[in-house]
Amino acid sequence: MIPLVDLSTDKKLTAKIKATVCDVIDSKNYILGERLKSFEKKFTGFIGAEDAVGVGSGTDALRLCLRALGVGAGDMVLTVGFTSPFTAIAILEEGAMPVFCDIDPETWTLDVKSIEGKLDSHIKAIMPVHIYGNPCNMDVILEFAKKNNLVVIEDACQAVGASIGSKMTGTFGDAAAFSFYPTKNLGGMGDGGMVTTASGETAEMIRVLRHGGQTKRFWHEYAGINSRLDEMQAAILEEKLAYLKEDNRKRAGLAGKYVRELGNLPLKFQEVLTGAFSCWHQFVVLTPLRDRLKEFLLKKDITTDIYYPYAVYSQKAFMEFPKFKTPVTDKLSGQVLSIPLYPSLSDGDCDYIIKSIKEFFKTV
Ligand SMILES: *Cc1c(COP(=O)(O)O)cnc(C)c1O
Repeated sequence: MIPLVDLSTDKKLTAKIKATVCDVIDSKNYILGERLKSFEKKFTGFIGAEDAVGVGSGTDALRLCLRALGVGAGDMVLTVGFTSPFTAIAILEEGAMPVFCDIDPETWTLDVKSIEGKLDSHIKAIMPVHIYGNPCNMDVILEFAKKNNLVVIEDACQAVGASIGSKMTGTFGDAAAFSFYPTKNLGGMGDGGMVTTASGETAEMIRVLRHGGQTKRFWHEYAGINSRLDEMQAAILEEKLAYLKEDNRKRAGLAGKYVRELGNLPLKFQEVLTGAFSCWHQFVVLTPLRDRLKEFLLKKDITTDIYYPYAVYSQKAFMEFPKFKTPVTDKLSGQVLSIPLYPSLSDGDCDYIIKSIKEFFKTV
């Protein structure tokens, strides 16, 4: 069976991770220590941000961005319904309300053209999502935000190592959130997240807020939250970060092969903006025959999955919140299918997947 993702690490990396975990155990320092500082510094350098703050998860990273930037109760946040529900959960946890926009039919990312009429005065922020690792059209989003005086928070949870021109995703907005959930391109062995920002003030505020709002020992200036990236995860992630660039290149190579080989079939793929680099968190094909294709590939021992089968606004927990017209999101939710893509996917398996998809379209 070919899996959809493969979380195993190669022998060399596994040995390094085991050694570093042992070091952390021996250090008896598990929270807010040198490992976190070191990983934050390396991550800052990798992204080309001014600062990075390690937190407990991607969801908490989004929450802390909102809170540090003054978005909360009574405020509304523009985002998309074509994302992980955790994007909307972060907004709701801060007491704000999501407002769902539609996505562009080519890039599948937030389309400001779907925003109708004059903006409600409660709309304070915009949270575009670099879905499947594909950068949003940040030029257009930043211009829209400037015109409407909105805070910009990038949901870069799937986009570690993606870029537009020479700038990485996570450096465009006022702040950005990354996730180290195990299946993400930079996956930990547990939960973890990171905030990047160009503002020293925002970074400092998030450092305080992630640790309960404590500004000095026993003194809580704010009622913050409890969400720190622990030493064990920071140490593991620092080892894995060294492989990320090469891993993303491998993903891009495989994605390029899929697009070339499957290009003549009645399938659509996510388009990457000119001059941008997607880190291909997922490779997704679009077809009205999605469910039949999924079943066919399963019989061929190829695992696929649907990210995401339900638009966020269509789910019971989020139905009551405002949205604009979302025909593209509605259509895509019914037609997307993720096929296996991970750095260790062998050429042989990739060829077999391509052959099997071609075979499917001969039978229909
Ligand atoms: C994974 C993910 C999140 C949540 O990250 P966690 O680390 O699981 O909390 C949020 N938004 C998007 C787009 C994601 O893919």
